[in-house]
Amino acid sequence: MSISRREFLESAAAASALAALSGLPRPAQAAGGEKWVKSVCRYCGTGCGLYIGVRDGKVFAVKGDKENHNQGFLCLKGFLLPQILTAPTRCLYPMIRKDGKLVRATWDEAMSLVAARFKEAIEKYGPDSVAFYGSGQGLTEETYVANKLFKAGIRTNNVDGNPRLCMASAVGGYVTTYGKDEPMGCYEDIDHADVFLLVGSNTAECHPILFQRIVRRKEKAPGTKVIVLDPRRTPTARIADLHISFKPGTDLAILNAMAYVLVQEGLIDEEFIKNHVTFGEGTEANKSFEDYKAFLAQYTPEKAAEIAGCKAEDIVTAARWFGEKGKASMSMWTMGLNQRTKGVWANNLVHNLHLITGKIGTPGSTPFSLTGQPNACGGVRDGGALSHLLPYGRLIANEAHRKEMEKLWGVPEGTLKPKPGPSTVEMFQKIEAGEIKCVYIMCTNPGQSLPNVGRYRKALQREDVFVVVAEAFHPTRTTELADVVLPAAAWAEKEGVYGCSERRYQLLEQAIPPSGESRPDFEILCDLGRRLGLGHLVPFKTPTDVWNEILTICKGTVYDFSGMTRERLRQAHGILWPAPTADHPGTKRRYVKGEDPFVPADWPHRIKFYGRPDSRAVVWMRPFKGPEEAPDADYPMYYTTGRVIEHWHTGTMTRTCKELVHANAEAVAEMHPADAAKLGVKTGDKVKISSRRGSEVFKVKVTDTSRENLVFVHMHDDQHLCNLITIDALDPISKQPEFKICGVKVDKA
Ligand code: SF4
Repeated sequence: MSISRREFLESAAAASALAALSGLPRPAQAAGGEKWVKSVCRYCGTGCGLYIGVRDGKVFAVKGDKENHNQGFLCLKGFLLPQILTAPTRCLYPMIRKDGKLVRATWDEAMSLVAARFKEAIEKYGPDSVAFYGSGQGLTEETYVANKLFKAGIRTNNVDGNPRLCMASAVGGYVTTYGKDEPMGCYEDIDHADVFLLVGSNTAECHPILFQRIVRRKEKAPGTKVIVLDPRRTPTARIADLHISFKPGTDLAILNAMAYVLVQEGLIDEEFIKNHVTFGEGTEANKSFEDYKAFLAQYTPEKAAEIAGCKAEDIVTAARWFGEKGKASMSMWTMGLNQRTKGVWANNLVHNLHLITGKIGTPGSTPFSLTGQPNACGGVRDGGALSHLLPYGRLIANEAHRKEMEKLWGVPEGTLKPKPGPSTVEMFQKIEAGEIKCVYIMCTNPGQSLPNVGRYRKALQREDVFVVVAEAFHPTRTTELADVVLPAAAWAEKEGVYGCSERRYQLLEQAIPPSGESRPDFEILCDLGRRLGLGHLVPFKTPTDVWNEILTICKGTVYDFSGMTRERLRQAHGILWPAPTADHPGTKRRYVKGEDPFVPADWPHRIKFYGRPDSRAVVWMRPFKGPEEAPDADYPMYYTTGRVIEHWHTGTMTRTCKELVHANAEAVAEMHPADAAKLGVKTGDKVKISSRRGSEVFKVKVTDTSRENLVFVHMHDDQHLCNLITIDALDPISKQPEFKICGVKVDKA
């Protein structure tokens, strides 16, 4: 480890000290509270369980749920959640833009206007002139209602959401390799793993409670190895036994070279390959193991090291550790792997390592994609609220799936359109082109979060585009562009289900009434449905009504969680799907006989990849290909963006918490000392970073975290938009943008 235990404890202590500054009662002081309501953290996809303390109708504290996977722990963001409810930026009443200004309106005025503009556009230009843009932060019931309303009611597939920006390539990786989306393992695997391969994931800052669990495993089992593949020496890399820093976008070469070493050194599981694996290239799974070996021949460690700018012996070490017989290996990754024009391919290559070594489906051995948002998995991925999906694994383009959903939704055959709608960036391009006239944006902030955001901010400002934003906070960089702002109830003020990274569905109970005039998104959407004459499709009175319908929609699919009744969810601390009957305990490891209810008891092997017709997973031959825009003579440095531990996404919530702002006030540009010296800047100076798309000025932080010739900028700051610079090139399979890599020039400002 390159950080001492003392250093680690010091940083943990610093975090606790910061928590103590909050002024919030610690759980121990909160004994006089009226009640503690079971809930889930509002932020990252770790999905930590917590209890909300309520006194006199107000939230006064939270405490971690000891019976949930997080074992009572919360990170500082989670601990400070109560502050967001009373933030001065809470949006408390509807607003309509008049003479260029947003002014207060009644709910009836606002909703009448929204319904009238949507109706007018649909009548004049057809259903595809309107769109819904949702979020991995919406509750499952809300996302489900929106998806049904737009796809089956308005009859448009112009439905997408911000998970397209964060996990679409992970979905693409799972679906192409195993035939079905979502990780097959669980958090408990962390406690059994001997080797962790963390790729493009700053787990320490982005999923702190999982990082803490990795550290605990390492302390308990000192032989545990942590391998970090990341261009930056992040806080995660500081606990690594091996950190491989490489040129951004070259990890495909490294991962192929690891596979080369595994094959060369006999660290593979031939029996597993024979029984469970097939090989493929392009889109066809019709290759042989011999073809794969021939493909790998071009990725010797030396060749990969030359491409990636790292050491060949480190690649060999990483492969040997990962492949050591008798050891359990767990991979984890996030946006470093996903936000790329080759994101799906990079995901495939991580899966390859597990499949050729057979390190999959046993405790501690699993490929595990970590999710950035609390309900990206549950509401959007599983719920099918993307432009090419229908709920629970069904596809828009599949006629049988459409017919099945039409029957389940009780709409005439032919209602669902067969052509997938536009993905997120394409949707905003259609707004830019004037093809989409009305957009309903729920619980997300595209005016800040889209890549090449200057372009799409202009699109949203078109005179002939009507922008509705349902949001719990105002102003945001999106509400400032809205024609109508609808005040949405926030976390703790409404009820619904979240699904976190490990397939765990959890109920968030309502703890307090909505603030001001705000209403739960579920109610607002049902109201819109009624005003559009589609009330029969969304007749729900409560989120429980929606959940009961969802249970009928998932039944018979491989997601089947129809045994997760509302009552059961109220009692449980989350249940992992599949759980097809009321007495099924949930499934820790998918595809595994004896654990997954969809693997028949008489299946001759321990594992069945039933997502694919031949029940085999595919090892894909994915060649190295660089990023869309590598540095060049005009824009000579790499630019990348990411999170810091104190803030979350576009900061609409965390930047209202004074302690979090105090700890990390504004986005800075992290630069390697050699780059800073060349430019003649020091920490605190300002630099202007420019790409072909835009520029922004940031304060500099000189740090060895950053690789030479790579400038890293925090993504959360609404006053310094890092996405004026990022590129909107897409992965052709997942349609996820390449946020992580582009070329920039940096000048002293
Ligand atoms: S790790 Fe994620 S889910 Fe857990 S408390 Fe922190 S922000 Fe919330």
